[in-house]
Amino acid sequence: MQPFLSFANNLRIQDVLDVIIISLMIYFLLVWFKNRASRFVLMGLSVVGAVYVVARFFQLYLTTVVLQGFFAILIFVLVVIFQEDLRRLFERLAVIGRFGGQPAVGAVRDDTEILTTTAVNLARNRIGALIVLKGKDPLERHLGNCIPLDGLISQELLESLFDPHSPGHDGAVVIAGNRITHFGCHLPLAADMGRNGSAGLRHTAALGLAERADALCIAVSEERGTISLARNERMRVLSGGLELRNELENFYRELAPEEQTASRIAVELRKNTREKVIAVALACVLWATFGYQKETVRREYAVPIEYLDVSRNFVLEEPRIREARVILSGPTQAFQLLDPGALRVVLKKADLQEGRQSIVLTSDMVKTPSNINVVAIIPPEITVTATRYLPVSIPLEPTTTGRPPRGIAVKGIEVEPAAVRVFIPSVIAPGKIKIRTAPIDFARLSEQTSFNVALRYPPGVRFPDDKVPSAVVTVKIRKKAGDGGRSR
Ligand code: ATP
Ligand code: MG
Repeated sequence: MQPFLSFANNLRIQDVLDVIIISLMIYFLLVWFKNRASRFVLMGLSVVGAVYVVARFFQLYLTTVVLQGFFAILIFVLVVIFQEDLRRLFERLAVIGRFGGQPAVGAVRDDTEILTTTAVNLARNRIGALIVLKGKDPLERHLGNCIPLDGLISQELLESLFDPHSPGHDGAVVIAGNRITHFGCHLPLAADMGRNGSAGLRHTAALGLAERADALCIAVSEERGTISLARNERMRVLSGGLELRNELENFYRELAPEEQTASRIAVELRKNTREKVIAVALACVLWATFGYQKETVRREYAVPIEYLDVSRNFVLEEPRIREARVILSGPTQAFQLLDPGALRVVLKKADLQEGRQSIVLTSDMVKTPSNINVVAIIPPEITVTATRYLPVSIPLEPTTTGRPPRGIAVKGIEVEPAAVRVFIPSVIAPGKIKIRTAPIDFARLSEQTSFNVALRYPPGVRFPDDKVPSAVVTVKIRKKAGDGGRSR
């Protein structure tokens, strides 16, 4: 009971989400491979994986090392093996939610009828045919040398297309929705011809497309007068028109978007029970092995102290402490996901008063993930001196040196701006503060009368955003008439 309680206490919502997401991933993987020939590869890999787990458990050194090397190159092997599947997967993701070209319910019934009668008719007359019904996967990539057509399905049109006397009877007819989009298509051949025994090109091509997309391929044999169906990498000979009608109905139902959401969800919930159970069990096992750990570890970090929002009216006197050591505790995996560089001890303005004070560093000043606790902060408290600053406006005073050259008289001096806004410590009277311009040399007045100068100000004065402006001083002069001193 006790271990269970502590387990339940440590369980977080994130852990549940973890298991759910991994379960879903395993489930879709299982369902994806369920109907595919490549599932044998998956099974083989599972066996290798199981051997690896056992080898690690019993500490079989050589086996572990060899398998680790195998897993390292596995990713490349997988990309090669599942090239076609990966392409399909991405293709499907790209067209997700699009139901273009799917016929309405009434039309589906008619199409099923037309296709069944046509196939039965062709088979009876020993006319070879290959009809492709597009599923959700795009087909363009697989169709070579097609002749485009955009015609409604009809028995007459289909029989004309497969008429051995017509020049276009070679190859496959492609149907998307209720329209024949192409005829005379050259389909890719099945990779594994052997599986079909002595089947000829038509049947191998039907299976070839069914290996690469979710289309339904109907092949009518001219030699044997049979109707075969290829879908999901499998091909079989049908017993007759009745079975074909059934299969077509199933196919259209699978594609139909008009099924009600509620009943669709019910269907989704009911099917693949075995895969669901396996997925959840596997996810739980994985989580128990890799995800869940009771043991907690402690780690110590040097963390910068950040003084937030204090720059406006308060200023902290230097030197101020800029770093603290923070001791954290939590499960090992939590630390794996932790970015120590992002840790901060944050002091806010609300924590500050005027004057000298000590601030206790509390754990809520350090932001950590919910499964990591702050055990201690060193030092536990810091001393700072905060000075409050008041905004004031101080007039600028120009200063000068030297004498104007002969023949030039100074009439007045203007400073732009006339005053600057600054922050001064609240303990100093604003009248005591003088802000002057750097001195202007009167001796240069014959060359220029306008000067861009820096400001001189006493310590303690702070400018908004710490940007010290400059000033423009303009000297008004008058040239004395009749003076022959320094003329040009
Ligand atoms: P059947 O049982 O009707 O004889 P089969 O499977 O034995 O069929 P073949 O006898 O080789 O196949 O049939 C040849 C016909 O198959 C060609 O006339 C052509 O119409 C069609 N065909 C051959 N290759 C392809 C292909 N790659 N894609 C589509 N159709 C093809
Ligand atoms: Mg043949």
